[in-house]
Amino acid sequence: MNLFNRYCFIGCDKPFNESEVVVFGAPFDGTSSYRPGSRFAPNKIRIDSYGLETYSPYMDMDLEDKNIHDAGDLDFTFGNKYAVVDMIKEYTQYLVSNNKKPFMIGGEHLVSLPVISTLYQKHKDMVLLHFDAHTDLRTDYMGEELSHATVIKQVWNFMGDNKIFQFGIRSGLREEFQWAMEGNHTFINKYNCEKLQEIIQQIGDKPVYITIDLDVLDPSIFPGTGTPEPGGIFFKEMLEVINRLSQLNIIGADVVELAPDYDPSGVSTAVACKVIRELLLTL
Ligand code: MN
Ligand code: MN
Repeated sequence: MNLFNRYCFIGCDKPFNESEVVVFGAPFDGTSSYRPGSRFAPNKIRIDSYGLETYSPYMDMDLEDKNIHDAGDLDFTFGNKYAVVDMIKEYTQYLVSNNKKPFMIGGEHLVSLPVISTLYQKHKDMVLLHFDAHTDLRTDYMGEELSHATVIKQVWNFMGDNKIFQFGIRSGLREEFQWAMEGNHTFINKYNCEKLQEIIQQIGDKPVYITIDLDVLDPSIFPGTGTPEPGGIFFKEMLEVINRLSQLNIIGADVVELAPDYDPSGVSTAVACKVIRELLLTL
């Protein structure tokens, strides 16, 4: 009799050695500035992914035909964001040295920093595509330099100008917008993703990292997040975005900031699962 183990994302059950992409969870929400709870996302996503099919009619592709391994979650120590960042860095280095593409499920947005910095060590011409309601460009948040509100600024500290492209942004300090747009430090497409195709042409075949903070979606379809921000994009726009991303040379990706317990209907988790399936199929 064959038993069935649901504790991997649907269709991501290939052995590590044969895989090209490795999914892993980073269940950390220690710097969430408003509502915590994204630490519960990776496991909820795995369980609810069985409500989906592995086949995507949008892409005409099937996760079963891809070599994807779901490794499980990193086992974090409590209450020490520096140790968490180090563990993610170490695991990403392990994946990179084994020629695997990392696909991380957060957690809050700080968890992206160590993955991006590790990949940047290998790919100095890498660019970052960032989808979010928030700029995440603060220099510090209440004195703390490492926070989900500072993560993209932290990335800029080593990547520098003309490498970071932000979409769907509709919240942040005046100073953050001025620094980004007037200082020409990052590219910001406010409110939507209309300029994405133009940017994709510019990027060409450079290595690209994708970070999707799911609060880029409108809270009417995605209330299950720590800092909901009205005025976001809808699921079909997100699908169109992911479809366009398939033109790029993607070297890694993450999906962060689902806090499943704020949406007892489970719809936010279903949305997250579908975003992840489509994004995995573009890798
Ligand atoms: Mn964010
Ligand atoms: Mn956000």
